[in-house]
Amino acid sequence: MDTALTSSDAAYVKRLCHAAGAFAAGIACAQPLPSSVADIYDSWLALKRHGTMFYAGHHRQVRNDPRLLLDGARSIIVCLFAYPHSIAQTPGAPLIAAYAAGRDYHKVLRKRLKHVAALIDDTYHVSSRVCVDTAPLRERFWAARAGLGVIGLNNQLIVPGIGSNFFIASVITSADFPADTPLSPQAAQGMVSCLRCGRCVKACPAGAINPDGSCDTQKCLSYITIEADDDIVNTLPRHQSPLKNHIYGCDVCRLACPMSHPEAQPAVLPDFSPRPQILSLTLKDWLGMTHADYDSLTAGSAMRRASLLHLKALLHFL
Ligand code: SF4
Ligand code: SF4
Repeated sequence: MDTALTSSDAAYVKRLCHAAGAFAAGIACAQPLPSSVADIYDSWLALKRHGTMFYAGHHRQVRNDPRLLLDGARSIIVCLFAYPHSIAQTPGAPLIAAYAAGRDYHKVLRKRLKHVAALIDDTYHVSSRVCVDTAPLRERFWAARAGLGVIGLNNQLIVPGIGSNFFIASVITSADFPADTPLSPQAAQGMVSCLRCGRCVKACPAGAINPDGSCDTQKCLSYITIEADDDIVNTLPRHQSPLKNHIYGCDVCRLACPMSHPEAQPAVLPDFSPRPQILSLTLKDWLGMTHADYDSLTAGSAMRRASLLHLKALLHFL
């Protein structure tokens, strides 16, 4: 489709996104990344800060130009779906990140946005593609470009007045919707533009956030608990409790941010409500957990990304 669409079309497509459960939706023009944004990522890779997440280095050309994800791509519609700001686990239990305590967002959001994409395709006779953390797309940058938030020193997208407790999912489409305005010139360029108060740097239990906003992913507890292989885990110093009681992910830098407001939260889809059986887990439960228990506990959940063997190996380092 070659015709540029109007603000009424943009409003219509955002209504579709809200009806699919997004609490916010914005539109960015599909175009190459600014070279400064691409260069920072390349430097991060060159320093091997991605650890064993080798996939992070693949598909460089596509990552730098989202138009390569879809023939004729003109717009990126970015949607934010809330998960709980925090979860109430059994006191003292090994900590689980709030996003992982409900259903697997990949499956839930793909299904919801496929419906949106199909409606866009039917209405405008275009083609669209859904991306939910599964394509080499710089989601946080495009969300900032689409006017949804700013990039924090903690490397998260922050929606002022809400925080960072949301999943980002996108529809790339050949429909040419008018783009939204970024919240600041820095946000437009994917640069850090939070309060720069440094609380996330101080709060990080692993010293993974550098004062310039770069992240030593290999030190980050999210990486170690979910992504790192057991060779890396086994180099951790056992006597120092390096995981600070985290067994799956880490919410510390997100919760430390003063731009995050627990009292002003958007509605959470029932799919992302924490499972009671996850909230009630204790250390004793983890120690005695069988593969059958784990399969039943994590069926359809994002926690399946880690094996029980890996999580049990972490118990020595809590
Ligand atoms: S997720 Fe946790 S360990 Fe990783 S940077 Fe944030 S506070 Fe640090
Ligand atoms: S805690 Fe402060 S420095 Fe860190 S992301 Fe939030 S506002 Fe920025």
